[in-house]
Amino acid sequence: MADGTARREKALDDPPPRLLGPPPLLPRGAGRTLLAVEGLTRRFPGAGLSAVNGVSLSLREGELLALVGPSGCGKTTTLRMIGGFEPPDSGRVVFDGRDVTADPPERRGFGFVFQDYALFPHLSVLDNVRFGLRGLSRAAGRARAAEMLALVGLSDHGKRMPHALSGGQQQRVALARTLATEPRLVLLDEPFSNLDAARRVETRQEVRSLLRQAGSAAILVTHDQEEALALADRVAVMEAGRLAQIGAPDTVYRNPCDCFVASFLSRATILPGEARGRVVETPIGALALAQPAFGPIRVAIRPEQIALALDGHGSGRILAREYRGHDQFYQVRLRDRTVGVISAEPEPLPVGVRVSIAVRGAVSRVADDR
Ligand code: ADP
Ligand code: MG
Repeated sequence: MADGTARREKALDDPPPRLLGPPPLLPRGAGRTLLAVEGLTRRFPGAGLSAVNGVSLSLREGELLALVGPSGCGKTTTLRMIGGFEPPDSGRVVFDGRDVTADPPERRGFGFVFQDYALFPHLSVLDNVRFGLRGLSRAAGRARAAEMLALVGLSDHGKRMPHALSGGQQQRVALARTLATEPRLVLLDEPFSNLDAARRVETRQEVRSLLRQAGSAAILVTHDQEEALALADRVAVMEAGRLAQIGAPDTVYRNPCDCFVASFLSRATILPGEARGRVVETPIGALALAQPAFGPIRVAIRPEQIALALDGHGSGRILAREYRGHDQFYQVRLRDRTVGVISAEPEPLPVGVRVSIAVRGAVSRVADDR
């Protein structure tokens, strides 16, 4: 996106929303299962493979779950089945103890926030937020809508038309409209992908706080693993229609269950090795193993686990460098292997130089290799 656009957006924007007191330490009703999805499967007519294949997961009251995976892995289809927009071939959706699989979306009472905001262009910001509140009297609807606009920091924008808002502001209005009805579950599909990088980070933190305050549980679909790890209470990683792993961000990041999850979440290098308890012999040397194992296995080394040092006699050579500002991602050739390394050293190393490497901490087993 052009710089000019980003600056214009910035100039139009308000300060971040004022939050009404600190978010509760624990979400309302925390611990109770709110949603259970069991064996959801969907194969589109004419397709060889199922777009979604036996996905099961559950969500606690007030919990934020990120559904993450590469493009085309079935995230949107899963979310649409949970929301009632797409009929599953098999499987069930149970909400608050009730089987809602056959219910249309409006009977489920979930909130939705999609990528394109879907504000009504001919209605003012306030009327957009009021739209979902048709059950209330006119005065009560206006009061509630004004309260929600205050919550997302847009009190002064109620009379504006949607086109006169920046992307980030439009997304906040869409969220205000959704949260106005106090849904117990909000489904969000790539809600930040139309925002530029700077706005995306800010907006996603705001959205997280707002969900927390409303006490709503949410499933957030994203292809961005950083976003998933940064925002969610738990992360569910999908690959080719199936759920590969689900767990707390730290758990799935540090203990990926297979090569796919390791590569997708952290750009880990996968190496074969021979395990002998707490040590594994790999083509780049003996490494410490997080969990004891024996025999031929595959291990994942996260790129930030590797330290590089400029060393004319080192056994590694820098093949390529991706400059990322706050750090660099290097590809380092070491014996007959290439390893990925993230380094935040203030002086970036040039391509072609010799380096020595050290692996910090333990590596995790991601597959057996028999
Ligand atoms: P994601 O959201 O993870 O990018 P989707 O759920 O949109 O993935 O799609 C999963 C797979 O299903 C893809 O191969 C996609 O092309 C296919 N697909 C999605 N929607 C339809 C549809 N309405 N008809 C046929 N194929 C579809
Ligand atoms: Mg999608």
